[in-house]
Amino acid sequence: MRVRVDQALCVGDETCVDICPELFEMDGDVAVSKKDEVPEELKEACREAAESCPAEAIIIEE
Ligand code: SF4
Repeated sequence: MRVRVDQALCVGDETCVDICPELFEMDGDVAVSKKDEVPEELKEACREAAESCPAEAIIIEE
């Protein structure tokens, strides 16, 4: 499972960072993923972050 943030869509509200700081961090006004490959133990939080993102900017590839 891979994850990335579409920075053109991200509105920078930091929801993903709140939900899963192990995987997401802010880079200025937008979020970035800290890892491309999602570790097993973070998959559920990653999906939750993607579902909670108001801009649908978190792209998951299974
Ligand atoms: S939840 Fe979505 S819009 Fe908000 S900072 Fe994260 S990627 Fe950007």
